[in-house]
Amino acid sequence: MQTTDVQEQLFSNLKTYFGYDSFRAQQQDIIETVLSKKDCLVIMPTGGGKSICFQLPALSFEGVTLVISPLIALMKDQVDGLNANGIAASYFNSSQSASEQHDIIERVITADLKLLYVAPESLAALQNIITEKYISCVAIDEAHCISSWGHDFRPSYQQLGFLKSTLPNTPFIALTATADKATRSDIAKQLRIEHAQQFISSFDRQNIELEVRPADNRISQIVKFIKRNQGQSGIVYCLSRKTTEQLAKKLKTNGISAKAYHAGLSFDERSKVQESFIFDRTQIVCATVAFGMGIDKSNVRWVVHYNMPKNIEGYYQEIGRAGRDGLKSHALLFHSYADVIQLRNFASGASNEAFQIAKLDRMKQFSESTTCRRKILLSYFGELLAENCGNCDVCKNPPQIFDGTIIAQKILSAVYRLKESEAIGMIIDVLRGSQNAAVLDKGYNQLKTFGIGRDIAYRDWQHLIIQLINQGFCEIAFHQNNALRLTEFSKKVLFEGAKVALTKPVHIPEPKVKERVKRKPKAAPKTRVKKRENTLFERLRQLRYKIALEENIPAYLIFSDATLKEIERERPLSEDDFLSISGVGQRKLEVYGDEFIAEILDFMGSKVKKPKKKATHLVTYDLYKNGLTIEEISVERKLSTTTIYSHIAKLHSTGKAVNIYDFVSKSEVEAVKKAKTDLDAPTGLKPYYDHLNGDLDYFKIRLALSVVDKN
Ligand code: ADP
Ligand code: ZN
Repeated sequence: MQTTDVQEQLFSNLKTYFGYDSFRAQQQDIIETVLSKKDCLVIMPTGGGKSICFQLPALSFEGVTLVISPLIALMKDQVDGLNANGIAASYFNSSQSASEQHDIIERVITADLKLLYVAPESLAALQNIITEKYISCVAIDEAHCISSWGHDFRPSYQQLGFLKSTLPNTPFIALTATADKATRSDIAKQLRIEHAQQFISSFDRQNIELEVRPADNRISQIVKFIKRNQGQSGIVYCLSRKTTEQLAKKLKTNGISAKAYHAGLSFDERSKVQESFIFDRTQIVCATVAFGMGIDKSNVRWVVHYNMPKNIEGYYQEIGRAGRDGLKSHALLFHSYADVIQLRNFASGASNEAFQIAKLDRMKQFSESTTCRRKILLSYFGELLAENCGNCDVCKNPPQIFDGTIIAQKILSAVYRLKESEAIGMIIDVLRGSQNAAVLDKGYNQLKTFGIGRDIAYRDWQHLIIQLINQGFCEIAFHQNNALRLTEFSKKVLFEGAKVALTKPVHIPEPKVKERVKRKPKAAPKTRVKKRENTLFERLRQLRYKIALEENIPAYLIFSDATLKEIERERPLSEDDFLSISGVGQRKLEVYGDEFIAEILDFMGSKVKKPKKKATHLVTYDLYKNGLTIEEISVERKLSTTTIYSHIAKLHSTGKAVNIYDFVSKSEVEAVKKAKTDLDAPTGLKPYYDHLNGDLDYFKIRLALSVVDKN
C-alpha cells in the first residue's frame, strides 16, 4: 500500500470506529511507527490518549494484538469500550471459566479477535498461541509496573522480558504515564526493546484548573465546592482511612451523598464502590490514594485533596484522574502545616528519609507558591512553560505584594518572647490575644506581644508565617515539637531594619497605618445555579444513563461528556449530522443515533411549546400500515433499520397490530424466553446478548422480548 493509502485507511478507521476526525499530538506518528513494525515507548500523561495508539493499528493487523494490562477492572472497561465501538476484543484472565477461556483461544486461532487483553499472570496459560502466527503486535499498558524504579512495581510484570524473545519480529509498544528518565530506560531494558523509538508527550493538562487553599474549615469549603459542582463526579483524596469515612459521613449530614473507599474495606465492598462510581450511581467518593488506579472513567470533573499528598508524582497522578475527556475540570488542594508535619513524621526513620523529605519539600513549595502553579508542576517533570498558564489560582488572582516589615517584626518578636519553644498555632494564639487554657496556663497573656495582632484572622496569620519560613526569616524545628525558631535572617529584621516583602492573603485587612475606611461588608456573590434539569445536556445525560443501565456498561463508554456537550451545541437532527459529532462512530450512530435525535427534537419541541410531535414509533406504524417494508421505512425516515425494528418491538408491546413473527422466529423467541428464566429476568439487553454468545443481535432480542414480556 502507498503511504497515503495507509493514512487514508487510518483516518477512516479513526472516524468509523472511534468517532474522531483528527489525531492528538503524537498519536499519528506513534501509530505509523507501530504499523511499520518498529518498537515504541510511549510516555503520555493520563488522559492523553494512549489507548488509540495500539487500538487503531490493531484494526489494520491481520492477527491479534496482545495487550498486557495489570488490572482486571481496567481490562473489562477497555474491552466494553471497544465492543461498544464495534471492535472485536476480549480479555483472558483467571476469573473466567475453562470453557470461556477455551472459546477465547479459539477466537485467537481463527483470527476472529482484533485485541486480546491479558494480565501477565495469565500469559503462561496462553503459551501455545503466543507465536508470530497469531500475534501481530504486543502492547504493554502501564509499562512502568515492570520497573522497580517506578512507583507501582509489580513482580508479575518482570516475566514480560521473555516475550520479546518469543516474538522477535513483532512490534512492541510500551505505554506509561510515568515521566522520569531512569524509569523510562529501565522499562526499555527490562522489556528488551532498548532500541525502541521514544515518544514523550507534554505533561501539561491545560483543562485542569489548579487551586490551593489554606485548610481551615475544610468541610464547609468542600460542601460549598460540591454544591457549586452539583451532579458532577468527583473524588476527595484523604490521607487516612478514618478521614475518608468521617468525611463521607459529614457530607451526608450536609445532604451530599458520598461513599468512602479505602484498603480496610473488603474486596467486595471496594468493587461495589468502584463500580457504582464508574456507573455514575455514586457521584462522590472519599478515598485514600488506593482509589483510582485502574479507573478509566473519563467524566471525573473534579479532584479534591483533603490532605496534602506526599510528593508531586502522587499529586499529579491523582489530579490526572479528572478531565480525561479534555473538558474543563478542577483540582483543589487543601494545604495545612499539620499535614506537612504528619507526612514528615511518616517519613522519619525510613531508609530513604532524606529522599522522601526532599520530595515533600517540593510538594510544599508547590502549595505555597506565589507564582504560576502549573509552571512549578511542569518544571518538576522537566518541562518549561514559557507563559503563565492563566488557569491556576495564582494566575487568576495574582498575589499582591506589600511591605510586611511590621508584621514580620510582630511574628518574630513573638517567637523570641516564647523562647523559640512553641509551634505556629501557639504563636498565632498569642498574637491574637486568645484566652484559651494553654495560653493562660503558661502565663503568655502577660507577654508584651500578647494580642498585638488581633486585627488579622487566624488563617491569614498562618499564610504570613509560612511566607516568613519560606523566605528563611524563621524555621520549624521538626525534631523539637515543631517549634518555630529564629534564624540568622531574623536578627536583620528585628534589629537591623531589614525590609520584608510579603504577599497579601486573600481578605487580609489593610495594614493599620492606613486610615480605616468604613465599608459595607460585601455580600457574597450569588452563585448562579442553572436549573440543571431543564438543559438539553441534562436530558442527554439522563438518556445516556438509561441506556447504560440497559446495556450494563458505564455511561462514559456510551458517549463521553465531551461528545454530549458537542451534541448539545450542534443539535444534530439527521444521521449524517449525528455522525459528524466527535466521538460518534458508525456503530454508535446505528445503535444510539435515533434515541438521541428524538431527545433533541423533543427538547426543541418543548422549548417552543409546539404541540407535541407524534411519537416516533407511531410515525413508523403509519408507514408500516401502508405496507412499507422495514428497509423502505428506514429509507423513508432516514433512520437505521435497527431503530425501525425497535419501533416494531415497541408497537407490539403496546398492543398495536404488527405481525411480529415476520421479524423474529419462534425459535429465537424461545431462546430468549429460556435465557430470561436462566438469568432470572435481568435488566437490559446485554446479559441476553452475552448469554446467547452474541448469536442474536440486539434488535432481535428486543423483538423477542416484546413477545416474551407480553405473555
Ligand atoms: P490514557 O490511556 O492516555 O489515559 P485514553 O486512551 O483513555 O487516555 O484517552 C483519554 C480520552 O481521550 C478518551 O476518552 C479517548 O476516547 C479520548 N481521545 C483519545 N484520542 C482522541 C482523539 N484523537 N480525539 C478525540 N478524543 C480522543
Ligand atoms: Zn498559572
